[in-house]
Amino acid sequence: MSATLANVITNNYRLLAICDHCAHTVELDMDALVERHGGDYPVPALKKRLRCTRCGSASCAVQVALPLDRCA
Ligand SMILES: [Zn+2]
Repeated sequence: MSATLANVITNNYRLLAICDHCAHTVELDMDALVERHGGDYPVPALKKRLRCTRCGSASCAVQVALPLDRCA
């Protein structure tokens, strides 16, 4: 079973996109993603759509991150 955008939001997780080439990391805007793709969109499918805003590479990893207030 793969995570969907709705799963990430329900669990209060965040999504990070990390460039494979320059390690540039951005936190994805969940609201914008759901608006564009819908809540059933699988998180792994985002990987193919991402492009690094720093070096332009299309090779990025998507990582699910715990919310900051649960890290302590
Ligand atoms: Zn990059």
